[in-house]
Formats: sequence, C-alpha cells, structure tokens
Amino acid sequence: MAEYDYDVLVIGAGPGGYVAAIRAAQLGLKTACAEGRETLGGTCLNVGCIPSKALLHGSEKFEEAVNGTFASYGIKTGPVELDLSAMQQQKLDSVKSLTGGIEFLFKKNKVTWLKGYATFEDAHSVTVAGQKVSAKHIVIATGSSVTPLPGVTVDNDAGVVVDSTGALALNRVPDHMVVIGGGVIGLELGSVWRRLGAKVTVVEYLDQLLPGMDGDVRREAAKIFKKQGMALKLSTKVTGVAVDGGKATLTVEPSAGGAAETIEADCVLVAIGRKPNTDGLGLDKIGLELNKRGQIETDHDFRTKVDGVWAIGDVIPGPMLAHKAEDEGIAVAENIAGLTGIVNHDVIPGVVYTFPEFAGVGLTQEAALEKAGGDQSKIKVSKFPMLANSRAKTNHEPDGFVKVIADAQTDRVLGVWAIASVAGTMIAEAALAMEFGATSEDIAYTCHAHPTHSEALKEAAMGIREKPIHM
Ligand SMILES: Cc1cc2nc3c(=O)[nH]c(=O)nc-3n(C[C@H](O)[C@H](O)[C@H](O)COP(=O)(O)OP(=O)(O)OC[C@H]3O[C@@H](n4cnc5c(N)ncnc54)[C@H](O)[C@@H]3O)c2cc1C
Repeated sequence: MAEYDYDVLVIGAGPGGYVAAIRAAQLGLKTACAEGRETLGGTCLNVGCIPSKALLHGSEKFEEAVNGTFASYGIKTGPVELDLSAMQQQKLDSVKSLTGGIEFLFKKNKVTWLKGYATFEDAHSVTVAGQKVSAKHIVIATGSSVTPLPGVTVDNDAGVVVDSTGALALNRVPDHMVVIGGGVIGLELGSVWRRLGAKVTVVEYLDQLLPGMDGDVRREAAKIFKKQGMALKLSTKVTGVAVDGGKATLTVEPSAGGAAETIEADCVLVAIGRKPNTDGLGLDKIGLELNKRGQIETDHDFRTKVDGVWAIGDVIPGPMLAHKAEDEGIAVAENIAGLTGIVNHDVIPGVVYTFPEFAGVGLTQEAALEKAGGDQSKIKVSKFPMLANSRAKTNHEPDGFVKVIADAQTDRVLGVWAIASVAGTMIAEAALAMEFGATSEDIAYTCHAHPTHSEALKEAAMGIREKPIHM
C-alpha cells in the first residue's frame, strides 16, 4: 500500500491552487485539490477578476450608448435603458461557464476534488469534510479575503455597506456610492456603478489613488477619474459609518487630523485591501508561523519552513494578483516534481481595468530613482502621449501615455507604465521584453504593426536614446 493517499494535495482551488493541481497531474503526480467553496476557481473566478470584468465590460457598453460615444461614431440609438438583472445574469453566465471549465479540466487531468475546507492534522495529512487524507506534498493556496475596516459592519445582503462581493451583486443602481479605498478594486467597481448612473465618491487615505503604481500614472488617474465625474476625497480617512433605514452616514476627517465632516450615501463600498486566508487551517498543528502581515513565508521554490508543505498565491508575500498566483502554481508543481520552477517576481504586470486602462510592469520611476541612490543621471525616462498615437486618435481616445524607464548606462528597461484603452494588453509586450532583458533600443527597433496602440511603446522607447517620430 502506498505511504500516502496522494503525491500532492493542494488546499484551495483559486488561480494558484487549481493551476498547481492541474500542472502536478500533468507531470504524472497523483493529485487532489480541497476546495470549500461550491465551485472551483477561487476568488478570481467567483467573486473577483471575472465577475468584475463582466460588469466593467457591460457597463462600458452602456455608457458608450448613453454618453454620446456611439453618436460620435455616427451611430444613432433610440432611448437607452439599463436592464440590470440581465447585466447581472450575463456576469453569472460567465462565472458559471468558467468555473465549470475548471471542473472539466480537473476531470480531464484526473485531479480529485475534495469538497470541503481542509485543516492540517500533521505536515502530511489534512481533514476535509470529516475525512482524513494524506499526501507527500501539501500546497497551501488558500488565497485572501476582504480586509474589514474596524468599526464598520459589512452586510452584503442589505446592500448598504458592502465589500467587493456585495458590490458585484447589487440589484439596484445606488444614488450615491461612497467607495472607501482608491485602489484597483475600489476604482474598478466604483467605475461600474458610476457608468450605470450612480454618483460615486472615492475616499482615499493617501494623497493619491492607486498605491504602488508609478507617480505619473497615479496623478493622471486622479485627473481622468475626476473628468469622468467621480468625486475624489484624497488624504481623507473614514472614522465611522452609521447605518439607519437604508442610508449610511460616513464620518470623515483629513488623514493628518482636522475637522470632521459627514457624507450621506445609500451604498458604501469598503475596499481597503485583502488579507491572507489562514484561519481554521490548523497551522499551529504543523508549527508553521505567519509573518507580521499574516502571510506564510516561503523560499524561492515556494517551500515553507515545514518539510513537505509549500505555499503560493495571495497567502504568501507579493502582489495579490491572479496571474502571479497562476505562475506560482505552475512553478510549485514543477519544483515538487523535481524540475526547476521559477517565477520572476520583478516582472509581474499589474492592470486596472477601467477606461482607459492603467498598467505597469517593473519599477516605478520613484523606485528606479531610489535604487539608483537618488542619482537622476543613472536612469532615463521617456513618455509618449496617446494623443500622438494614430490609432488612439482615430478611436477618439486622447487620454494617457506610455512611459519607459531605462538604466542610463546599460539601456536595460527597468519599468514600463501605460495609460491607454488597451494598456492591459499592451503591457504584455513590455513584460516579455523585460523578461528577455531587453534594452529600450531593442523595443525601439522592433517593428510594430500600424496603426496600433502598441506603437506608443515603440515611440516611448525611441525617446530614451533619440527622439520619437510623431512628436
Ligand atoms: C473584486 C476583485 C477583482 C479582482 N480582479 C483581479 C484582476 O482583474 N486581475 C487579477 O490578477 N487579480 C484580480 N483580483 C485578485 C485575484 O482574485 C487574486 O489575486 C487571486 O484570486 C488569488 O488567487 P489564489 O489562488 O491565491 O487565491 P483565491 O483565488 O482567493 O482562492 C483560494 C481558494 O481557497 C479556498 N480555501 C480557503 N481556505 C481553504 C481551506 N482551508 N480548505 C479548502 N479551501 C480553502 C477558498 O474558498 C478559495 O476558493 C481581484 C480580486 C477581487 C476581490
């Protein structure tokens, strides 16, 4: 009889866990994946990336029909009406089809789905739904959940104070939505409801939106969102939210301290971040401690301090992004199989899927300068405006730019930032270039199809050494 039930047992079937399980099975390992949710795919497919993109896409089309964008292309519409339940249904259809797709892939690759939440018994066994299961290798891929705001009670069913999951499922368009937190999730979901007719106010503790992104991008984002009609209250903290009869009253004050004021809203979205899921895992039973941020630390190969136990995705340090989790899923399975699985954490793109999209990969200008010891002459920066890109101009998309940051001596690209309608797609080219150690000259001398938004990356790269043509 085999020593263990499985070679690999993955806890959690989000983009990290399900990808790790499939890759492990593809490599010939007997694999199981425990998932407590009723469907596979984790946060991303059920209440994250996919439903938010379904609503972003639908709401963008709606806005184009009502705000004169269609008319600007010579398309006449009759009165345009929102059928919110149909929009929500197409979101659910996408989620169902994609989560069902993972179930199909599990069957195809012979990954056993253990239905239920797993708790460690020891380093090689867990209990799932009352059943003890053992494995030679256990991968923790339990992801993350919404960070609560102390003193603020979220009630997604009531729909007045909601988190991202509640904001994805609203069955009415709020009159006034206040978004607490000007990060990616708050801005994406705030954009959805603004496009559908809500007045949206974003309250952000810091002095700019989109923490972690390049300073130029953050400043431009504030201008663009304001132009779209979002009210921004930067450098402001929420100190309390009182709910009465379907209305919320928020008390806010300057982050640095000062006079308090109140804001009335009929919907409040709490989007201040996410925290790793480790409660109930029984980590104490295997002697695995968390770091100060509640994350599980691993080495470069995704091994934890406990022999046979590995961890990936949102539960370990690094950006909380689905593609980072997926790549770690592939790498951990390859490492378990004795191959060399590597993730280059210096080249993980990040995208905000609003209109326009905001995207970046590598270092921000601020981080590049800091790495250069504050010596401005050690880095080169070039920006090319989308206004000068023929395709963006033709498509009536004047906002945005592409910015390339390169090492002044070696010309190696250190970071690329883009604001454009398709910045999320454009950034893949920059990531690939950086992965290959490209110089700005490599990008500048790569032939780009015309007319495409991507030509703006080429022109920005040209600007590092010479001059762009179209400016
Ligand atoms: C609204 C929203 C929009 C987002 N949009 C994007 C986007 O556009 N692009 C992007 O890259 N990222 C996006 N993200 C982030 C992305 O969803 C996460 O980074 C990604 O899902 C992390 O993957 P994971 O596998 O680490 O964990 P998760 O996807 O969180 O999956 C973990 C799974 O583990 C299960 N689990 C937890 N504990 C146990 C246990 N003890 N036993 C069994 N199962 C357990 C959970 O039920 C869950 O299904 C978004 C997130 C949100 C909330």
